Amino acid sequence: MAHNCDDICRDLHVYLDGETTVATRSVIAVHLEDCPSCADAFHFEAQVRLVVARCCCEEPVPESLRVRVLRAIYTADP
Ligand SMILES: [Zn+2]
Repeated sequence: MAHNCDDICRDLHVYLDGETTVATRSVIAVHLEDCPSCADAFHFEAQVRLVVARCCCEEPVPESLRVRVLRAIYTADP
């Protein structure tokens, strides 16, 4: 029962959500140990989730900063 990198990449999101079966979890875990590129993708995805979770849960961006960023975007030279 070979899993290739495409299968693993497709299942990474589910794996991170904790919604895989135990069998799939172990297949992915074993593959991540053997495959540096999938391990990289996994760690990147995990980091992104951490950042997103932090942005959603902690205090919102201050209005002054939001305005400054928007102004910088709209007044930036093309
Ligand atoms: Zn792989």
